[in-house]
Amino acid sequence: MKAEDERQREHRSPVTGHRSLKSGRRPGKVWLIGAGPGDPELLTFKAARALREAEIVLVDELVDRRVLAHARRDARIVDVGKRGGCKSTPQAFIERLMVRLAQRGAAVARLKGGDPFVFGRGGEEALALTRAGVAWEVIPGVTAGIGVPASLGIPVTQRDVARGVTLITGHSGDGSEPDWRALRAGATTLVIYMGIKRVGSLVGAMLEAGFPADTPACAIQNGTLARQREVVTTLGRLPRAVVEAQLGSPAILVVGEVVRHARIATESTAQRVA
Ligand code: SAH
Repeated sequence: MKAEDERQREHRSPVTGHRSLKSGRRPGKVWLIGAGPGDPELLTFKAARALREAEIVLVDELVDRRVLAHARRDARIVDVGKRGGCKSTPQAFIERLMVRLAQRGAAVARLKGGDPFVFGRGGEEALALTRAGVAWEVIPGVTAGIGVPASLGIPVTQRDVARGVTLITGHSGDGSEPDWRALRAGATTLVIYMGIKRVGSLVGAMLEAGFPADTPACAIQNGTLARQREVVTTLGRLPRAVVEAQLGSPAILVVGEVVRHARIATESTAQRVA
């Protein structure tokens, strides 16, 4: 009787709240997890708990491998990001894979850099899962656009100098350009993701739209990691500074008065150009 009770005991996952019978199989599920901008210590407790439960972990390219220390030892780790110049796994394939695995009853962790819903395609994946009737949960992460400037002491919404912060992409996919005049009028700090390779044309368009060339600006590569590098300068000088410092992806650009708060350690590889 006791053994029977034990077998039938309800198990409730601490993360999902899902009930399951020990003897049965729990329904499949996908966690869309934000791993933060780089430093593995910026992972949330909730993300670590979900990783401890996941049987399969689908990892994006920007996720630091040290985060996987939280995964189960027997978890299947699948890299779905582009590495070494290889083509990334097509988005539709990843979505189908997640649906199939969850429908077979697997607990799947989809691990993404930063926050899954900020330029991370998490929204598209959530939609695909909903359409397929798969249960999913999003676990937010520290987005690069806020956590990376913070690593330099830049408060992106510092009162008195910034009304807010606007997160935009420098790489629209459809070739369209942001409405720079409207962004200038908005008087918020601008954080540009995926813009480092186009920094010359982006800055050119901003200057044309009336952004003053002496607006403080910086570019930060590999933010929050030991290999972080940055240049802190003005908007007008930013393209040249980026080239001279040979900064590349992944990097964010930050434009606005708040950049004056940047604290740069003298021993770092940083360059203060202005
Ligand atoms: N979902 C992620 C963004 C994915 S888009 C987030 O919320 O942060 C990828 C872009 O994010 C990169 O091209 C770069 O612009 C930015 N990024 C991600 N990690 C970064 C890091 N450690 N340092 C600087 N920029 C980073």
